[in-house]
Amino acid sequence: MIPFESETILIGGKWVNTAAGETLPVEDPSTGRHFGAIARGGGDDIDRAVAAARAALSGAWGRATAVDRGRLLARIGALVTEQLDMLAELEARDVGKPLTQARADAVALARYMEFYAGAADKVHGATIPYLEGYTIFTLREPHGVTGHIIPWNYPMQIIGRSVGAALAMGNAAILKPAEDASLTALAFARIAEEAGLPAGALNVVPGLGEEAGAALAAHPGVDHISFTGSVEVGGAVQAAAGSHVVPVTLELGGKSPQVVFADADIDAALPFLVKAGIQNAGQTCSAASRVVVETRIHDELLARLSDSYRALRVGPALSDLDVGPLISERQKARVDSYLAMGRANRPRIVAEGAIVDDAPSGGHYMPPALIADVDADHALAQEEIFGPVQVVIPFDDEAEAVSIANGTPYGLVAGVWTNDGARQFRMAKAIRAGQVFINNYGAGGGVELPFGGMGKSGHGREKGFEALYGFSVLKTVAARHG
Ligand code: NAD
Repeated sequence: MIPFESETILIGGKWVNTAAGETLPVEDPSTGRHFGAIARGGGDDIDRAVAAARAALSGAWGRATAVDRGRLLARIGALVTEQLDMLAELEARDVGKPLTQARADAVALARYMEFYAGAADKVHGATIPYLEGYTIFTLREPHGVTGHIIPWNYPMQIIGRSVGAALAMGNAAILKPAEDASLTALAFARIAEEAGLPAGALNVVPGLGEEAGAALAAHPGVDHISFTGSVEVGGAVQAAAGSHVVPVTLELGGKSPQVVFADADIDAALPFLVKAGIQNAGQTCSAASRVVVETRIHDELLARLSDSYRALRVGPALSDLDVGPLISERQKARVDSYLAMGRANRPRIVAEGAIVDDAPSGGHYMPPALIADVDADHALAQEEIFGPVQVVIPFDDEAEAVSIANGTPYGLVAGVWTNDGARQFRMAKAIRAGQVFINNYGAGGGVELPFGGMGKSGHGREKGFEALYGFSVLKTVAARHG
């Protein structure tokens, strides 16, 4: 069912075997069964990828103008749109996400390509007034070879935002997809090839994190690392990159709140509150895993959230229900260890969704759970669970709402629900997060909106125009001419 040879890696425009010739199985989380294999790249393969990327920079890719790069990205975007069904089905099978959600990711990938296609020739330098007899200007240049280490939860979206921006600025990219979900990364590379991307501009080496990933992060021939994943591995990647002093963008985890004041439009908020908790089975960095609600409406909101949770249906990705399986049995065990904390009197699971009867027994299914009576400092309210679990935390006034919202080590995204205009602005300024949404959450994906964390959610910004600054370096030229 994988519509291409998935066991090879892309190096310098050629699909080749890994040096060791080993592979990793591809599991379908909806059934627990294997349906293919991917290459298990290692240090030797990363060496070859770095050499190929370096050669691309001094070859056709290095000579491509900003206009050329934009046109190539536009062609890739058009081909992604043509192959949307294939990409969506591949992602649904590989990650376990319901087909509609996988399709939205493929649409986002195409949209990232369009956005960065249009932006490639619009990044300009500046002239700076200076001393008599001098002309000063700045140039935006690519870093050179960029490494992209990505997780399994949103492969297409993360490829779009990071590889798309890196290529727009003229870098040569090496992509290390996650061992649990590499298929759409390989499909994307094939599409880029079909669009005519010069050899070596994009190289793809799947494999294990501690092998291919660690080799990429530590490679002295890499000039910039974009890492999306866990806090723990992000720290290790930053240390590895630090050993040869190259910049790192870290897009890490979160424990994002949605703060609901008593004056909010609850009908409008409800679908956002639930979706932001259970989308992709809660395996989303920006999942709103904390609902922080004003005490006056706590019971009413809890009752309405509970009704929504009881209506959620969980099943195979291709059945396209509300929630699919978790990525792996390991992830399910991890989430289950948190749910065990909610099986006590306090905190307590107040409502759960249901797994459909015909869900295959080998799939990694877990009913979404809503947990109430959670103290703000409880592990359930502090740690990233990365599963379909939302906790509800009450607050009495605005100051307490801010303190709870900011009361974790993370700072990725937040939502604020209130019809008081002055409070909307106060909250937006007081909350420590890379994105704050007022009376919405996620803004429909927001390809154009800069995204990134504060605190343990990471540093650097991807998405939007801002990413182009991160994937380039500024050079100042000072000419003295008298
Ligand atoms: P992970 O950190 O385990 O793995 C991410 C990537 O790092 C994978 O490709 C993996 O192979 C690689 N890796 C693992 N060990 C490595 C090492 N020692 N050196 C180099 N690379 C290594 O994360 P995950 O479980 O795949 O993803 C879940 C995490 O990602 C969550 O914490 C989630 O919040 C975060 N995430 C963040 C964002 C964001 O934009 N902020 C987006 C998606 C996911």
